[in-house]
Amino acid sequence: MSNYYFDTEKNQHKTFELPGAKPHYNPDRPGQVKHIFLDLTLDIPKQSLQGNCQITLNPIRNGIHRFNLNAVNLDIASVKVDGVEQKFDYDGEEISVKLDTPTQANQQIKIAIAYSVEKPQRGIYFIQPNEHYPHKPTQVWTQGEDEDSRFWFPCFDYPGQLSTSEIRVRIPKPLMAVSNGELIATESAGEHKIYHWLQQQVHPTYLMTLAVGDFAEIKDEWQGKSVTYYVEKGREEQARLSMGKTPQMIEFLSQKYGYPYAYPKYAQVCVDDFIFGGMENTSTTLLTDRCLLDAKAALDNRNTERLVVHELAHQWFGDLVVIKHWSHAWVKEGMATYSEIMWAEQEYDVDEGKYYHLQDARAYLSEDSGRYRRPMVTHVYREAIELYDRHIYEKGACVYHMIRAELGEELFWRAIQTFVQDNAHRSVETVDLLRAIETATGRNLSFLFDQYVYRGGHPDFKVAYSWDGDSNLAKVTVTQTQAQAGKTSSDNYLFDLKIPIGFGYTQPGETAQLTTFTVRVHEREQSFYFPLPEKPQFISFDVGNHYLKTVSLEYAVPELKAQLAFDPDSISRIYAAEALGKKGGLEALKALSTALKDDSFWAVRAEVAQQIAEIKLDQAFDALIPGLKDTDHRVRRAVVQALGKIKTNASYKALKELVKQGDASYYVEADACRGIGAIAAFTGTDKPTEEKVLKLLTTVLEKKAGWNEVVRSGAIGGLAKFKTSEAALNVILEYTKLGVPQPLRLTSIRALGNISVGQTAANVERILEHLKKLANENFFLTQVAVVTALGEMETPKALGILQSLANQTPDGRVRRHADEKIAKVQKNIGPEKTMVQLREELDELKQQNQELKSRLENLEAKSK
Ligand SMILES: [Zn+2]
Repeated sequence: MSNYYFDTEKNQHKTFELPGAKPHYNPDRPGQVKHIFLDLTLDIPKQSLQGNCQITLNPIRNGIHRFNLNAVNLDIASVKVDGVEQKFDYDGEEISVKLDTPTQANQQIKIAIAYSVEKPQRGIYFIQPNEHYPHKPTQVWTQGEDEDSRFWFPCFDYPGQLSTSEIRVRIPKPLMAVSNGELIATESAGEHKIYHWLQQQVHPTYLMTLAVGDFAEIKDEWQGKSVTYYVEKGREEQARLSMGKTPQMIEFLSQKYGYPYAYPKYAQVCVDDFIFGGMENTSTTLLTDRCLLDAKAALDNRNTERLVVHELAHQWFGDLVVIKHWSHAWVKEGMATYSEIMWAEQEYDVDEGKYYHLQDARAYLSEDSGRYRRPMVTHVYREAIELYDRHIYEKGACVYHMIRAELGEELFWRAIQTFVQDNAHRSVETVDLLRAIETATGRNLSFLFDQYVYRGGHPDFKVAYSWDGDSNLAKVTVTQTQAQAGKTSSDNYLFDLKIPIGFGYTQPGETAQLTTFTVRVHEREQSFYFPLPEKPQFISFDVGNHYLKTVSLEYAVPELKAQLAFDPDSISRIYAAEALGKKGGLEALKALSTALKDDSFWAVRAEVAQQIAEIKLDQAFDALIPGLKDTDHRVRRAVVQALGKIKTNASYKALKELVKQGDASYYVEADACRGIGAIAAFTGTDKPTEEKVLKLLTTVLEKKAGWNEVVRSGAIGGLAKFKTSEAALNVILEYTKLGVPQPLRLTSIRALGNISVGQTAANVERILEHLKKLANENFFLTQVAVVTALGEMETPKALGILQSLANQTPDGRVRRHADEKIAKVQKNIGPEKTMVQLREELDELKQQNQELKSRLENLEAKSK
């Protein structure tokens, strides 16, 4: 155990498996569930529900006399089978039912459980106005994935069981209830109304849902099926702006997946305080209401669009084709994430798709280098929710992309369509995808899955180039640096891939032409020689950039400059910009500065801006300034972020103007606030006074309330940079109070971590006390914010709060975060301080022990 905590050596990946991790499998099945019928009455003020759950089960064999249902902290009134009461045991987690009459194979039985639950911890969430947030809407919503449906109804709660489902629910007027499938009846009963929903297509328990609220209902349609957006009243316009492309997306995915949308309707319900971005419940997706855009946010926020297409893609990958076990969740999450790339390609252009893909790769790479490395498929974990990480989403998307590159456009879609058609309304494992590929195309992609899916990691390439003018030979040396020579450990292996290497030639006024050769890269270091008619202007490694990898280009400046200017592949241009940024110097800066003005693709310009900030020359500032006028908001944002890294009075002034004048984009304004904080907190002699900057940021906090609190969160981010300022700390603390709009409050809580590191001992103590109090709030997002803040602190005292959160939280994600942050804080402070902390704790225990002993002796003395 201590090994894990102190394992900080570089190149050695941390382990995914935390102490207590063990293998998980689906349980043995007593039979096939055919149908689940929930008959519910909600009491919203009491946060409770009364329920009757009826499960129709088709026994697999004769003679089963006992079976177990998942049910957490429910009050079980009775269990009947075919109308007859049965004996049962209940330990708060499972109901163990003893059957009077053992089963007969294929003779269906009806299990009926009468139950109730008050203030459920998970699964179903009651949202209501309170003294601090009097305008909060009244809502009830559910979240089943991964193993939380058992908190609101008894069930065989694992994704291998697929059945039809039905929910009948009684709620107070004027609220409405939305659920899976079609609405088959409504009934008025005095102050109450009953909604009756039926889903006739099979699905697993984790996709059963219920959303109750006083919603506005915005109606759209796709091929005669209703497509509905439910939002809080007054946000109708935002709903259209945010979800209005849904019918086109349904059409697009129906075509791509070769299977028309399978359910009678598609609803998206935006709910308050949702604990995920979105959840793809069958035919009824729930989304966080934070995804609703206003017109200004819609300018440069693509996150909502990606969320909408992601959850929709799950209606095929996840809902229609269900994963048999969480260990294979990458099959659905990878494709849902890949659908975002597909949609970006379709709706915008190929470059957008490619850049999206690069960002997915980076998200995975940062988890791999900073958090842990793991195989994408694994049964070993503490809680299934831990698997929902950058490996199964972003790396999963990258794997689908590599399959596409390997098969080519036509065969890839044929394989995907075969997979969906052959497995519709069934459950699958990773191997079923391999089989579908083989069935549809004849290709066996086991080599790719073995390297990228069943084991962790990716290749780290170093590519060097030289030209021999006498014999017209290009020499390219490729090194796989992830594998260290002479070392044999589980994450020290070589990849075996066929990689295209291109040589670029340019003609004035024309697109560069590439002469491409494909080579097999499978050793630690290989040199390839290519005879060419003349010296190329640039080299393009992994033409198309399809492989998931890191790459370090060790070319000379002229080749990198030419690649940045002429490589037709936008991602290759970004790699060239990175290499130039690393090289530094005036030549590199000039090339980057030209690209910031001239490159046709916004993302290259944005990336170039970031690289300019890496070059430590006074000219970097001048090179960036024209970028502030870029017409694309995302480029301006990158320029602003870059200026925040150049800590001079000149860049402070440039950003200050932006903060004062405002920008067409919320995100640009927010990053300008962060930037001025960063510069003012660190610049040398000619820096602006702290008071001035604090005043400016405080004005932003007072005046710029608005959409999702993006701008004000930027101001808090700016304040958090003043690590030694008590005044800044006091402002931040003010915004952690209840009643502050939630997004801003969460940002402020998180900021307490950053600002703590330079504060006086007394102030660190105040911060700790405050976080300790906040840790008692049950809301998931508050707990995550507290954990994040504590993880930034550099005091052993943070460990105790993290530990008690890890022990007490009902949420597996919070638990995992807290455990990881404990390791981080221990690393921040070093083993010595940790030992001091342990010793202090031991001393404290000794002291307590001594006191107890003394009291015991006193008592004994008295009793004698
Ligand atoms: Zn997903």
